[in-house]
Amino acid sequence: MDLSLMNKEQRKAIETTEGPLLLVAGAGSGKTRVLTHRIAYLLGEKGVPSYNILAITFTNKAAGEMLSRVNSLIEEDAGHMWISTFHSMCVRILRRDINHLGYDNSFSILDPTDQQSVVKGILKKRNLDVKQHHPRKILNFISDKKNQLITAEEASKEAEGYLDGLYSEIYTDYQEILYRNSSLDFDDLIMLTIDLFDRNPDVLKYYQNRFQYVHVDEYQDTNHAQYQLVNMLTAKYRNICVVGDSDQSIYKFRGADITNILNFEDDYPEAVTIKLEQNYRSTKTILDAANAVINNNSERKPKELRTERDGGAKIKTILADSERAEGQEVVRNIRDLSRKYAYSDIAVLYRANSQSRAIEDALVKSSIPYKMIGGMKFYQRMEIKDLMSYLKVIQNPHDDISFTRIINTPKRGIGAKTVDKLTAYGGIHGISIFEAINDADFIGIPKGAVTTLMSLLDKLKNLKEKSKYMSVTELVDETLYDTGYLDALEKENTLESRSRIENLDEFKTVTREFDNEREINDELLFEFLSEMALVSDQDGVEANAGVTLMTMHASKGLEFKVVFIVGLEEGIFPSQRVMYDDDELEEERRLMYVGITRAEDQLILSRADSRMIYGKYESNLQSRFLQEIPDELIDGEVIDINTPFSRPKQQAKSTVRQKSRVMTNNSGVSFKVGDKVTHKKFGDGIISNIKGDGDSKELDIVFTSEGPKRLLANFAPIEKK
Ligand code: ATP
Ligand code: MG
Repeated sequence: MDLSLMNKEQRKAIETTEGPLLLVAGAGSGKTRVLTHRIAYLLGEKGVPSYNILAITFTNKAAGEMLSRVNSLIEEDAGHMWISTFHSMCVRILRRDINHLGYDNSFSILDPTDQQSVVKGILKKRNLDVKQHHPRKILNFISDKKNQLITAEEASKEAEGYLDGLYSEIYTDYQEILYRNSSLDFDDLIMLTIDLFDRNPDVLKYYQNRFQYVHVDEYQDTNHAQYQLVNMLTAKYRNICVVGDSDQSIYKFRGADITNILNFEDDYPEAVTIKLEQNYRSTKTILDAANAVINNNSERKPKELRTERDGGAKIKTILADSERAEGQEVVRNIRDLSRKYAYSDIAVLYRANSQSRAIEDALVKSSIPYKMIGGMKFYQRMEIKDLMSYLKVIQNPHDDISFTRIINTPKRGIGAKTVDKLTAYGGIHGISIFEAINDADFIGIPKGAVTTLMSLLDKLKNLKEKSKYMSVTELVDETLYDTGYLDALEKENTLESRSRIENLDEFKTVTREFDNEREINDELLFEFLSEMALVSDQDGVEANAGVTLMTMHASKGLEFKVVFIVGLEEGIFPSQRVMYDDDELEEERRLMYVGITRAEDQLILSRADSRMIYGKYESNLQSRFLQEIPDELIDGEVIDINTPFSRPKQQAKSTVRQKSRVMTNNSGVSFKVGDKVTHKKFGDGIISNIKGDGDSKELDIVFTSEGPKRLLANFAPIEKK
């Protein structure tokens, strides 16, 4: 292997294969590249069997990339090596041995909507108000505890005060339900793996002997549970290499604990620490901007980072008068840049997923291809969730959460009472609904329903058999057909049901892609479901080339020739929530640092003078992060596309939010379904549905030329005809 392409420190990190190694360095200094080469070095030069190597990355996509890079560096096959995220690694471990903890080996993984419905069920049972005890808040509580490896029992013991006590009890209920369903949430994947290791030293020993060389990328964003897991795995051989950058710690809200990296040398006193100080990614202009911003954080050690890519284009700024204009201006710039760069070299980053819409609209209108990372919405659609629930029940019949979703979908005459009876009976006897159905006759369920249920059971059992020798795509077809799901949609024959059928077809492009990469085997369905569950919000689903749209959180570790950061306004970024909390503000600034340092050649920063937030136009001051970039790095010419609504640029460094400007135009007009309307841009259309009221009233309008769109009644530029 040729190490001459690496600098001295990088080479040292690659060659220090034995014992603990800490590699800390700023963005773009080659940390991930060192990891890849180090693995190739272990395999190629040290003759370490691929079987003995583990590398943990932050996203599935990063794992895939690392694997293909390693493969391109070595001659032999890296086949048995594990390169994966914490979650995928734990799925594999648990799939083998979770039965030691009393769970079924074909467990299900819950997605956030499933989790919410479990919590809602518990609240209902306890006669608690969902509005007062928001499920998401409770789930955050549970997640926090799990990330700190605090069990429900311990949480109850430690609880202080009423709410803490109540949430701990809900945590207990929640865990019981999951256990009964052989279902795990994301945090369980880690926590139960640790539990498994704790209770079964033999299992732990097996993995310790297997993973003699452990690597963790983005170590600054590990939480306590992940930290514990890594320490358990490496306790025997102590060959652990962690890399990270404390300036890029941006997941505190998910329990990431920066002290894991700061205390590494205390945990492993014999550790070798290597620092990298040369950035290979960005021009000096970009790097200077990043350093200037991050220097405003007081809680950090100063760090050297230099680049040999002198100069470079100055940073461009865009000031638009509305979010729509911002989208259009970003896209106009993309079009200009596309003479020099491929679309796939360009990324648009934002603080929150909700900001993507304006950019997307503008891209669509210009027919510029794009892909959205973290666009999970597709998987939250009703028909996709239904289908996934069928597949989950086929895989794990004890998954009551999924089973209750499909027991009467499509409608087959099974009432809520029947479901309640089955659930109650299952609860008493410690069995799942699937099993309870066998006793349906004895628990007072109407004859007709019993027959229907038995036939459903048969179909599901049948499908399970089929799953052992079918591709996932074939199984999906069979499922939609056998269960009558497709038939029901076809019979409905509405605009909506047709679009649901299209979505199910679209889903099959995902299964086909999965099938193409694999041989048929009886683990296929489990693998597919795990993969689907683990497509985290950092991972993309579409692989098409085009401009990349994503949050700054999701952009970690990636690089692009050109990077746009949009919405640089106080209240947007930094977000409103963090503005009065110093620690959170520093985390937000690290996020800006991550965003800036994704850029190789050109950085473009944009903001809108006013934008629609929750149905109101609001004006925000320019982001302090923009102010923190020295003037000399910024192209003097502000691309200012203000139209009549514009006002003078804000100079003040104040954080005070401007009084919001509310502009309504249709508030006096009453709309009803069937009304014909004309939209300034989309032309003629008919209102097909109306939802909500006041400023958040939404109209679904089917436009003759543009198809269906959802618009805010009071603000959309529409007129009744
Ligand atoms: P981040 O903190 O953003 O994750 P990183 O430290 O992991 O960044 P890499 O992604 O590994 O950095 O490297 C950044 C870029 O620099 C990559 O394109 C990489 O190929 C390149 N690079 C790293 N080291 C060298 C080197 N010695 N010679 C040439 N290019 C290098
Ligand atoms: Mg990296």
